[in-house]
Amino acid sequence: MINTNEIKLLRDGLEKLEAGFVDLPDFVPDFDEDALARVIDEVATRMQDNYPYHHPQYVGQMLKPPHPVARIAYAMSLWINPNNHALDGGRASSAMENECIVDLAAMFGWQKPLGHLTGGGTMANLEALWVAGRLHPGKSIIGSEQAHYTHSRISEVLGLAFSPVSVLPNGRMDIAAITDLLRQGNVGTIVVTMGSTGLGAVDPLPEILELRKKYDFRIHADAAYGGYFGLSSLLTNEAAEAYACLRDVDSIVIDPHKHGLQPYGCGSVLFKDASIGRIYKHDSPYTYFSSAELHLGEISLECSRPGAAAVALWATQRLLPLDKGGEFAASLDNCLTAARDFYSRLDTSNFFTPLMPPELDIVVYAVNAATTTQASDHARKLFDDAANQGLHLALIELPIAVAVHWLPDVKVDSTSITCLRSVLMKPEHKAWIERIVEMLDECAERLTTL
Ligand SMILES: *Cc1c(COP(=O)(O)O)cnc(C)c1O
Repeated sequence: MINTNEIKLLRDGLEKLEAGFVDLPDFVPDFDEDALARVIDEVATRMQDNYPYHHPQYVGQMLKPPHPVARIAYAMSLWINPNNHALDGGRASSAMENECIVDLAAMFGWQKPLGHLTGGGTMANLEALWVAGRLHPGKSIIGSEQAHYTHSRISEVLGLAFSPVSVLPNGRMDIAAITDLLRQGNVGTIVVTMGSTGLGAVDPLPEILELRKKYDFRIHADAAYGGYFGLSSLLTNEAAEAYACLRDVDSIVIDPHKHGLQPYGCGSVLFKDASIGRIYKHDSPYTYFSSAELHLGEISLECSRPGAAAVALWATQRLLPLDKGGEFAASLDNCLTAARDFYSRLDTSNFFTPLMPPELDIVVYAVNAATTTQASDHARKLFDDAANQGLHLALIELPIAVAVHWLPDVKVDSTSITCLRSVLMKPEHKAWIERIVEMLDECAERLTTL
């Protein structure tokens, strides 16, 4: 888990950083090292109480360890502790944030975007939907029933109606259902999920863009989890076409703390039309003294934000540029390959049945049983047993209509079904699939005795 070279790189970086301030008289912050050591020891003990999120045998939720370069850059910047709310608070880190935004937006073909980092995807989606609501006041927001659960809550905060759209068995929004809602009128914005959190499904963006020829609405792409996959060369044709259309949406959310190798606290929101900056306009009597330039605090709903997050992301994008065919893209390809390998092994398994083939790196699978109630019961038991063996999975509760398509031989005796879910987002997963499947089979064999 710990590579001591990381600590050395941090030390070297800090020495170089300190050299930038030698003109000032020296001072040493005073603290009691023994007391500090005792507390740090306690913290280490407390932190042992965690699932092994960093380990390849954690194949549950969307958790991916930060890249060492992000960890080092983040930690190093804490000695300065810049605040990216304004240039006064973090000159270098604000500039780095703007450069990161330019590179993120370039992935989608946008040259002059407006955007900034946020605490996470939820805050970023809130900003995008706030802008959408300002431009289409009183009109409703529609999005997939598999969209992130925060969209309906964000809409509530904004005082806008949210209507969920049903999904087809492949997990994508049903175009016929969208068209019905558009015909009823009063739709201001469609949220298109590029990689749903539960199923990894990519909504049919090309067809939704077609609908814009007839109806007037804004399109917001929630690509918090899936945004980076546009760089991959292994997408299915359908997913690749949807990603190619991202240049035509109005706003995009992408979370560097999901697939972008960043520590938590790093989401982002991008707007294609920079003139929406006017919507953020406000006067503050106590910030923004040093420059006539646009400050990040003037285009963000949050005020104080960690400059460290921008420094870490900048370092990561410097080391691993967001290029098609580059090293970063290759590591995403590994995740897709791992998911497809996992899916095909489950597809020939005696114990499990996978649902839809993975579009990205999430695989959802049922435990074989005679009825949907038994399958749900097995999934929950297996989840606990696997965790006891050091294999960490996730569970997902799905509408029966989505699941039965993939489980034609199972008798339906419930309105929903609990399945197992694995996000294969660590670069190491590709090499660990065989072991993961072996462990799963062992758990399934034990099921009758549990
Ligand atoms: C994770 C996720 C979010 C929420 O992002 P946070 O960073 O957890 O706030 C929103 N939408 C999608 C599709 C996500 O996967």
